[in-house]
Amino acid sequence: MNFQEKIRNVPDFPQQGIQFKDITTLLKDGPAFRLAIDMLAKPYKGKHIDVVVGPEARGFAIGAPVAYILGSGFVPIRKPGKLPAETLKYEYSLEYGKDALEIHKDAIEPGCQVLIVDDLLATGGTTMATIKMIEQLGGKVTGLAFLIELSFLNGREVLAGYDVTSLVQY
Ligand code: IMP
Repeated sequence: MNFQEKIRNVPDFPQQGIQFKDITTLLKDGPAFRLAIDMLAKPYKGKHIDVVVGPEARGFAIGAPVAYILGSGFVPIRKPGKLPAETLKYEYSLEYGKDALEIHKDAIEPGCQVLIVDDLLATGGTTMATIKMIEQLGGKVTGLAFLIELSFLNGREVLAGYDVTSLVQY
């Protein structure tokens, strides 16, 4: 399957000069969506993953089905003010500015084995913020799985020391 053909490139979104990779065209294609999820989960089958952690919002669409396949739980990472119970907050810089993320404090048990899943790795800022929160709560990050990797932004270097996999590279 050529996943690149299924991903739509939208020029100048959300800002002038950005080539936005739109995965909604892949998500709506049943066979492509299923294969992408199967391929993302495959390297982690048989490994012990307690929870998949997925950042809002596309990390939910990709992370939750991966968790289902692995028989793991799913933990959402959200923008501030969205999670109802007590949260841990982390501020970070993004490809297009600054942002903050939150996780429920009781979502990660100490020693918990975590797989982080998101749609796209750009600068690695979102993932690094997610890693910091998980580790602060005592979790162990076993792997990082992305549908898309924008290799020219060198997110892998930011995430050095962690096991990074991606299905499509630009
Ligand atoms: P990073 O923090 O710079 O690695 O950016 C990754 C985050 O920004 C992910 O959560 C993505 O969903 C989002 N993102 C950045 N660029 C794109 C894009 O071209 N398409 C879809 N999401 C993107």
